[in-house]
Amino acid sequence: MVKCGKCGTENPDGSIRCVACGRELSDQGEDYKTIAILALVFGIVGFFVNPFCLISVAAIVLGIIGNVYSVNNKSMAMAGWILGICSGVFQMVIDFFCTFGLGIFC
Ligand SMILES: [Zn+2]
Repeated sequence: MVKCGKCGTENPDGSIRCVACGRELSDQGEDYKTIAILALVFGIVGFFVNPFCLISVAAIVLGIIGNVYSVNNKSMAMAGWILGICSGVFQMVIDFFCTFGLGIFC
């Protein structure tokens, strides 16, 4: 099945246009898969390397873009921004402890 990027209708494999709204199905191509994967990767990497929480911010931004615009990769994009928030919070907790000289990680 091919899901329409505009209205979400499921169309039979090989369909050229959506049966419901007429949108061309072939131009969906990557469907934000790369963005969703990057969001996920940044979200995970953020737990290990996260200067100024930039990696977390990247994961959150890419994750939200993927979550809003993607049709078939929404859950992966969502996992990306959730991990981004978690890694950002994790980093802030570490920074907090380091600032007060209580660091066990630094
Ligand atoms: Zn459609």
